[in-house]
Amino acid sequence: MKDIKDMAENHDDSLGIEVILPEGGTTAPCCPHGPTLLFEKVSKGEETGRRFYACSACRDRKECSFFQWEEDKVSEARLLAREAENKSKRPPVSHQEYCTRFRKFSSLRPDEKKFCQDCQTLLPAGEREAHSSHRFTGVTEAQLKRPSVLLRPLNNKKSNAQYLFTDRSAHFLLDTLAGLGYTKVVCMGTPRLQELIKLRNLEQKHEPMKSLLLDIDFRYAQFYSQDEFCHYNMFNHHFFGGEASSAVLQAFLNECDKEKVVMVADPPFGGLVKPLANSFSLISQTWKKLQSSESSNADMPMTWIFPYFFEPRIRECIPSLTMLDYQVDYDNHPLYKHGKTGRKQSPVRLFTNICPKDVVLPKEEGYRFCAVCERYVWSLNKHCAKCNVCPSKDGREWKHCSACEKCVKPSWKHCQSCGHCALPDHPCGQSEGKEGCFICGSLQHRRKACPRRDMSRIRSHRSNTKKGGKKGGKKQPQPPLSKSKGKRKSGASRRAKKMAAQSV
Ligand code: SAH
Ligand code: ZN
Ligand code: ZN
Ligand code: ZN
Ligand code: ZN
Repeated sequence: MKDIKDMAENHDDSLGIEVILPEGGTTAPCCPHGPTLLFEKVSKGEETGRRFYACSACRDRKECSFFQWEEDKVSEARLLAREAENKSKRPPVSHQEYCTRFRKFSSLRPDEKKFCQDCQTLLPAGEREAHSSHRFTGVTEAQLKRPSVLLRPLNNKKSNAQYLFTDRSAHFLLDTLAGLGYTKVVCMGTPRLQELIKLRNLEQKHEPMKSLLLDIDFRYAQFYSQDEFCHYNMFNHHFFGGEASSAVLQAFLNECDKEKVVMVADPPFGGLVKPLANSFSLISQTWKKLQSSESSNADMPMTWIFPYFFEPRIRECIPSLTMLDYQVDYDNHPLYKHGKTGRKQSPVRLFTNICPKDVVLPKEEGYRFCAVCERYVWSLNKHCAKCNVCPSKDGREWKHCSACEKCVKPSWKHCQSCGHCALPDHPCGQSEGKEGCFICGSLQHRRKACPRRDMSRIRSHRSNTKKGGKKGGKKQPQPPLSKSKGKRKSGASRRAKKMAAQSV
């Protein structure tokens, strides 16, 4: 196994596919999940990749089959068909309509309140007939306040498996943020956090907090008003409800009096880091614009929950985020349980721009404060005097290698012929870093830093418009994101996949 850092640096290269973020003025074609993303597929030995549009949210072509070469001219008929397809995928009921239904539902007698498990909807009094062959359950007042318990977690392995926080993790997040004085929480793909915030307000023991859920799972529109939920895609910053909906976020980000905004995001682990970072940065920019001038230099406080092996990639995209040792765990994921109780440790961490020393990790769960690093660390993460950090990323105790002059995983041994530490059974002398640049083969740099890259970009653009694409033909690349079999995946994406596949 390769070094974590190495893995993440190779992330784009070994996938051979990179996202090209939209620049002002360009419009991408839309699939049912909003504007598609522009990808570039680079093959070994080729100077330049061919670009195509594909769905931002679905990594599996079976879920969303949208595909278009960048240079393709799309016929009017095709555009109309696409529009019709996009329309047909829209939710059957508007958010407003859902709100009306919710009010009616609330006024039903307790024994009349039913939930259809097959359709995953609350059943208004008059609609029972249509669901007569379906399975119902009764809905108590308490259940109505916990939609994340009532709704069946989506279990779509590739793009949208829903992993719900354990009470331990959800309460830790909420108590920490409340303790730091945050009063408004943007719940980005965190329905359980939103629901806990509302329940906590009902207790009337604390300063009330406001929350806004942004999520692609439209089932939540049944339970929340238009000020509490936006149907949103975090991979392309798309509001399905259009401007009215993005205005809801804008209003929420505006801080009055002593209000303080924070965002907590828990994206699907298989998701691409770059487009996520782009959306979060756009939200941060909106927040910044709403700030009074004296504080306009600060970034919007945020916490991004993601596996630790994405650290290099996340920090590359948003350098202000630091990874904390806290292990986030999930109710419906057998593998991501907290380490203390002897279960397997969760690889999921908090990446935050809140000052690490302010995020107090619970002592009773085995965290301690490192005065040198000025942050809370996991008990096995021992401070290394030589590196002058608490080095562990994965929760195990790392050890210092004097030859490498850094701390390494406990399972690694120093290999003389490779000149660095590696697993004892590593393919010796074949470390992937030695393969060299994807474009020119140089061992001095990676593809991203290749001097021929920008040149070839300009050239490819010309040749594409002239010849209508490099390879001419209509052939599409292998379903790019769902992974062609032969090619090896980067460590981080491979592991994210594995994690996703281990859902219940
Ligand atoms: N731990 C969280 C749930 C995280 S699961 C909790 O307990 O509240 C990931 C969440 O992101 C789900 O709610 C899912 O519906 C949402 N999601 C998945 N893909 C998304 C996308 N493209 N845009 C917005 N939300 C998405
Ligand atoms: Zn330390
Ligand atoms: Zn060390
Ligand atoms: Zn070593
Ligand atoms: Zn070796």
